[in-house]
Amino acid sequence: MRYNVCIVVHDHNSTLVQRGFNAHFTHGGQTARMTQAVTEPLALTARGLYCAVGNFFIDPLEPVDLAILTHAHADHARRGSRRYIATRQSERILRLRLGEDIDLQTLEYGEQITVGDAKVSLHPAGHVLGSAQVRVEALGRVWVVSGDYKRDDDPTCVPFEPVRCDVFVTEATFALPLYRWQPTSSIAAELLEWWKRAPERPSLVFGYAFGKAQRLLAEIGKLTDEPVYVHGSVERLNDAYRLEGIALARTEGVAEQPKGFDWRGKLVMAPPSAHRSAWMRKFKDPQTAFASGWMAVRGNRRRRGYERGFVLSDHADWQGLIQTVLETGASRVLVTHGQSDVLARYLEETHGIRAEPLGNLYDGESGDGL
Ligand SMILES: [Zn+2]
Ligand SMILES: [Zn+2]
Repeated sequence: MRYNVCIVVHDHNSTLVQRGFNAHFTHGGQTARMTQAVTEPLALTARGLYCAVGNFFIDPLEPVDLAILTHAHADHARRGSRRYIATRQSERILRLRLGEDIDLQTLEYGEQITVGDAKVSLHPAGHVLGSAQVRVEALGRVWVVSGDYKRDDDPTCVPFEPVRCDVFVTEATFALPLYRWQPTSSIAAELLEWWKRAPERPSLVFGYAFGKAQRLLAEIGKLTDEPVYVHGSVERLNDAYRLEGIALARTEGVAEQPKGFDWRGKLVMAPPSAHRSAWMRKFKDPQTAFASGWMAVRGNRRRRGYERGFVLSDHADWQGLIQTVLETGASRVLVTHGQSDVLARYLEETHGIRAEPLGNLYDGESGDGL
């Protein structure tokens, strides 16, 4: 088998990621100063997607000299790189998570800059506040790296925009036909009904603190004026959203309420890490729910110990993934995250698009954006 991607093993002892690229290079464990003629803007290395002509990485797995970040979720934005480039909308959250003093250059969506011999721009991914696809143009070729993305409504971020390219690197977290999302407004209405039907119990809804929680708060805010009580990790991120001008439901900190506070009939929002933790003890006889794309799979709710599941994801569903790939016009697709083999096979067999799994670059299961 022969792959067109050219690999440059650079001078920092990178080893090749064998999967997908082991075919016609002899590597044999010797180190590594192997230079092939660079014919593509990006290549996969052990530290992540690398642009040799611009000398930068996209969402690198380890600290590097220059990291271009798609978004601020923990499996994409890591500490320790010397310089970062990301969207202006993600700046507050990146500084919150990676450190106030990071060297960060911010770009507007669509603004193009030159990095070495590459042209780079960031385009909306519709995933969370500030999330972007990275477009890299070099050597007469255009690659777009999607990061995480979705096609569904979300009042908390700029909607996804398809970008034409030769090669599209797509995520595939929920790449099975069974994943089919309902409109966000109907999920929010279900949640409101679930909450209001239990006036004698606290209602605890769990969702990822960055992205999911704010999306729910924005939707709930359209339906009620009542406050939502939030875990501290959610509130920190709410501030970043509000400073970007995004309207959320009125919130109050759980920790700020007096001892003996009556939690009956109150809606509380917290990250999944707080579920079944000591933090939960203050709520007597709560009803619990988890808002996640994983709730589409029967058994997941019970296995994770929630009474109720709301199917709400910040990733594209099956149709959204396929629609997006077709809209990019890419003749070649590289698939990361989750069900990459299934999506790659489908694209090849049904649409004749050359598609390959790129391996699990990012650990979605432990990431916080699902
Ligand atoms: Zn991710
Ligand atoms: Zn994410």
